[in-house]
Amino acid sequence: MSGLEDLYREIILDHYRTPRNRGELDTPPATKVDGHNPLCGDEISVYLMVEDAENGDDAIVTDIKIGGQGCSISQSSASMMTNAVIGKRVGDVRAVSRKFKSLMGIENVDLQAGDDEVDLEDLEALQGVVKFPVRIKCAVLGWNTLSSALDEALDPAE
Ligand code: ZN
Repeated sequence: MSGLEDLYREIILDHYRTPRNRGELDTPPATKVDGHNPLCGDEISVYLMVEDAENGDDAIVTDIKIGGQGCSISQSSASMMTNAVIGKRVGDVRAVSRKFKSLMGIENVDLQAGDDEVDLEDLEALQGVVKFPVRIKCAVLGWNTLSSALDEALDPAE
């Protein structure tokens, strides 16, 4: 088992040292939402581009960029998240989000049919975080921020 933990640690460090999709997008057309985890001081800005937003769950996440700073768990989770959502349908992005939050032991995740088959890819490396409840908020910060950005992108009137 220690071999697996070493591999996971390596994946997390790799995303922390070389974060994917760092930067900014022009707003508009992109939507920007800031997230903050006061327990740890983590800050994440999500810049989100959604194509054909009027299609709801069938709209496509065409681009995402991440700004902000914080601990290795928050920043590596956000980096992995960008890889997991670019080019996906909004409905599929929400499914990955539900599956990941459920992996993190978040209660009240409304899992739906098909979520079992979602492949979390690198995000699986964060499963050890569930043993450290104070760090779970770090791991889900990017996802909660993305959720708000999706809501805003799909319904800009609100
Ligand atoms: Zn943190």
